[in-house]
Amino acid sequence: MSDLDLHPTAARCGGQATEGPVRDLLPPRETALGGSTVVRRLLPSLGRRMVGAWCFVDHYGPDDIADEPGMQVPPHPHMGLQTVSWLHQGEVLHRDSLGSLQTVRPYELGLMTSGRAISHSEESPRPHARLLHGAQLWVALPDGHRHTDPTFEHHPDLPRVTAAGLDARVILGTLDGTTSPGTAHTPIVGADLSLREGSRHQVPLDEHFEYAVLTMSGLTEIDGVRLEPGSMLYLGTGRRHLPLHAHSDASLLLLGGEPFREQLVMWWNFIGRTHDEIAQARDDWEKSSRFGEVHGYDGARLHAPELPPLPLKPRGRVR
Ligand code: MN
Repeated sequence: MSDLDLHPTAARCGGQATEGPVRDLLPPRETALGGSTVVRRLLPSLGRRMVGAWCFVDHYGPDDIADEPGMQVPPHPHMGLQTVSWLHQGEVLHRDSLGSLQTVRPYELGLMTSGRAISHSEESPRPHARLLHGAQLWVALPDGHRHTDPTFEHHPDLPRVTAAGLDARVILGTLDGTTSPGTAHTPIVGADLSLREGSRHQVPLDEHFEYAVLTMSGLTEIDGVRLEPGSMLYLGTGRRHLPLHAHSDASLLLLGGEPFREQLVMWWNFIGRTHDEIAQARDDWEKSSRFGEVHGYDGARLHAPELPPLPLKPRGRVR
């Protein structure tokens, strides 16, 4: 997925790392993507840039796309991050400059590690299923791993943690001793929790991580806060358990990780450490160098927006 905002401000990863548990609702912001898809952006938000290394969270659908193109995101570049494609309904066809051609289906992990440079496109295949529902997430790469070669991984069968009324798929990192096969470069967790109506749980957490929960569907109560679909609750650090109560059949994305300490510049589809790195990446994409070529997408590649007039500055966690 791409940030298609034509006039992106210099978004900065690195929110305030709280010491201890909090319950902050993060309001979604509607943003148009390619095709007929409108997403609700939850990270970065006004008050918070990151949860662990998670620095970008879009939630979309469920949308009826039977008579629509669905998702159509033309070839665009990435640098310094991983993208996680996660679906509950429908499918997304991923193409990238490594030559990958992969349909990602519900509850399968599509994990693209950009390293220093990659480009990709994402589209609803033709024909496609009636309903499209999913999330697109980015993970910032730490300095020691951000210049690596790009890779794409597809993991159709993720490990699960189960209890009565709870079925959790571990998307990235480790939950309750169960680890995803997806390659992670920081202490992190992403998990999809399916909850049966009426069930109550105490999900084990790492007290050194910060966490947030996004409701994908259903009505839940998380540490006493009622959440509706599309709502995200930031939970802070210092928790050993997360109290969950499902008021209906529901599903949640649990995102967490060690608070990310590096200063970052996040602009358009790039994460770097300096203005010059970002400007170089933008130039390279516009000159069709470094980011490779995506073959087979029926349409033109995206152009990068203009850089803002003032230099982009690396920012820490405090706004
Ligand atoms: Mn993308």
